[in-house]
Amino acid sequence: MPEFKTEPYITDSHHHLSHQDFSSDIEEVIGRAREAGVEILIEGGGEVALPYYLKNCLSDPYLRNMYFCAGLHPHDAMNFSDSILDKLRSLATHKRFAGVGECGLDYHYDNSPRDVQKRVFRKHIELASELKKPLAIHARKSYRDVFGILEDEGVPEAGVLFHCFSGGDEDLARILEMDGYISIGGVLTFPNAVRTREVISSVPRERLLIETDAPYLAPQNVRGKRNEPSYIRYVADELANLWGLPVEDVYFITTYNARVFFNIDIDHGGDIVYKLGDRLYLNVTNRCTNRCSFCIRNFRDGLGGYYLKLRVEPTPDEVIKAIGIPGEYEEIVFCGYGEPLIRYDLVREVARYIKERGGRVRVNTNGIARLYHGVDAIEYVSNYVDVFSISLNATNGEEYNRICRPLYKGAYKEVLKSIERAKSLNKEVRVSFVESSGADLTGAADMAEALGVSVRFR
Ligand code: SF4
Repeated sequence: MPEFKTEPYITDSHHHLSHQDFSSDIEEVIGRAREAGVEILIEGGGEVALPYYLKNCLSDPYLRNMYFCAGLHPHDAMNFSDSILDKLRSLATHKRFAGVGECGLDYHYDNSPRDVQKRVFRKHIELASELKKPLAIHARKSYRDVFGILEDEGVPEAGVLFHCFSGGDEDLARILEMDGYISIGGVLTFPNAVRTREVISSVPRERLLIETDAPYLAPQNVRGKRNEPSYIRYVADELANLWGLPVEDVYFITTYNARVFFNIDIDHGGDIVYKLGDRLYLNVTNRCTNRCSFCIRNFRDGLGGYYLKLRVEPTPDEVIKAIGIPGEYEEIVFCGYGEPLIRYDLVREVARYIKERGGRVRVNTNGIARLYHGVDAIEYVSNYVDVFSISLNATNGEEYNRICRPLYKGAYKEVLKSIERAKSLNKEVRVSFVESSGADLTGAADMAEALGVSVRFR
């Protein structure tokens, strides 16, 4: 039986392909990145060879989805001047410019005097605020001073990213307080990085990006070699282990975070809304907590003339824009090629938009998102939902596990709990069974009646 497998874009959110180590084989390196699925490449900046990179890579229309940051690394802070600042302003007009940095404080090497590093870091913060662009920060053994300067100068409105994060729990808490993002690379895979893995496992999923920092810090499997963007898969594998998620989910999540942080507009690779009859369906994710044997995704890449395999997930704004006028539809349904409540934040925001404009909202769910997030997603979105249609598919747990193949233990009980929770919120609740699944559905209608919900056989 084929199993649905999408190919989400992977993002290396911080590398130095402009480094001289790549001067002789940059095209091969980019080719290997693309082959590995690394579609979005963000240059970390701060290298003297950046002009070469701009000319040969970032100006080439055939080298797509490549972006760059520009700034002066704290090692080079002593070279800062007004003319460098002018150059950074001019680089910021480039269409592939993504943010200011990397900049900050490095007290490990102390290659530039600390007072100079601090002064130059302040200049970068000012520049990011002036340009309304995000700021990529390098902090090594210097978190306290970095936070102090950010407090003085004000966190740039477009946000901050602590690349190659090496701080502890308290540093992480400060960054989250300022709505900052964290990026992690090959260090995560090092055997002795036990503490780093502990700290990273507590970063909220919506705040974490992955990077290689190539040519530095190659992951454990290739340690000692020149690092390159294709090796980011080792970092993603380790993160998938830490999070207990399929690695494709890590690609989706971290690429989404990078896109949001750097404000990167990119084709989704598939349709995010599709119209069937009078209804509009919203395809907000391809992630799912189940691997149902009967899932349409195993057999078709879309339906009704729409292609539904996504390579990046949409933002709430993108979905809202794609909906247009909610009142034009009899109903708007969160459905698509995945479990919508995996994106409960988006569902709530978009559903509110629809309800506030007089639309009717249905959420088709498998009822297991709480096991994925630890959050009662049904309750979280319920104020803006008219109907929950919950896939039950079996009359007992054993049969459910056989045909729905959930990633989580106790999934069937969770589905039953979700039905009860949705009912207790005074929502219209339906359960559905797929007739072609091979499950014995004797008693399914009675079961729905006993649960006090309507039933649909599909
Ligand atoms: S829960 Fe739905 S989207 Fe997920 S595998 Fe099953 S049928 Fe497919």
